[in-house]
Amino acid sequence: LAALMFLTPACKDNKETAGGGSAAANKPAGAKIALLLPESKTSRYESHDRPHFERKVKELCPECQVIYSNADQDASKQQNQAEAALTNGAQVLVLDPVDAASASGIVARARQSKVLVISYDRLIAQADVDYYISFDNEQVGKLQGQALADKLKADGKADGTIVVINGSPTDSNAAMFKAGAHSVLDGSGAKIGAEYDTPDWSPDKAQQQMEQAITQLGKDKIAGVYAANDGTAGGAIAAMKAAGMTPLPPVTGQDAELAGIQRIVAGEQYMTVYKAIKAEAEAAAELAVTLARGGQPPAAKVNGKVNNGMKDVPAVLLTPVAVTKDNLKSTVMADGFWTAAQICEGS
Ligand code: BGC
Repeated sequence: LAALMFLTPACKDNKETAGGGSAAANKPAGAKIALLLPESKTSRYESHDRPHFERKVKELCPECQVIYSNADQDASKQQNQAEAALTNGAQVLVLDPVDAASASGIVARARQSKVLVISYDRLIAQADVDYYISFDNEQVGKLQGQALADKLKADGKADGTIVVINGSPTDSNAAMFKAGAHSVLDGSGAKIGAEYDTPDWSPDKAQQQMEQAITQLGKDKIAGVYAANDGTAGGAIAAMKAAGMTPLPPVTGQDAELAGIQRIVAGEQYMTVYKAIKAEAEAAAELAVTLARGGQPPAAKVNGKVNNGMKDVPAVLLTPVAVTKDNLKSTVMADGFWTAAQICEGS
């Protein structure tokens, strides 16, 4: 509410253009805001992040323009897209980096043009970014690890062998999911039989990794699979089904992707992590519009600081929620993330 009140005057009330982010430095009407997303194989970006962001910007600032691009997991493509957005007059970049390290070059380039940068979902390392909006990503990994450890225990397999499939090595979040998961699994009694990082978060590569793990460990030895998101979970499950593993061992995931939720309903995937992407995208839109108008975000919104190796970045961090069949209704469905009709379609 505070944010909305802050944003009530329309963009067109503003006058002169200027750089920086000070409250006095008002930007002109019809500000351009760039939304740079990293990939499209993971469905969240096109199904939730982009539409919620665009809708919120339009609602808060009808004359603002969103310049949208998706890098399809290609860091140099993302660099070109950022370059194009800057040339096109973007005043704020909302950047979800393909490569957390090399994206610092994009930030430096934006800075030269006095353009503000919001690090969206993934933290850009060693860069002078203005804000960071994400979830508590270490907590995401802890929720996944804890759910798997608890399930193994309930199945009488607390000391069973597990396969660990992490995310992309260039994604700063993937490192945090991995650290969070290890903080639980390493002390749980479970044995890690094989562990992989998955370049580009590719479901196909996750499937190949799982095939390799099955060959190496033997299909009867695998008591559970830690998969860092629903895309990699889908790959791992496909490999296990192809190998004739029945019943399937518990598999974790993340994003509450429709396919992941449908696998949970079908009993093929044990859990996912629901992140309220609408809240994340809307927080980014509010912040971007505020900054484009030359204002300061309401202090109440910024609830933390995260160090990116260069500075403590003011952060908005949201809370992830573990989801199994048992709380699907009170989480994903109660929030309208997916409706019963969508979940049940095709089943
Ligand atoms: C996001 C996840 C997503 C993954 C792959 C991470 O940075 O936080 O939600 O599954 O990237 O795109």
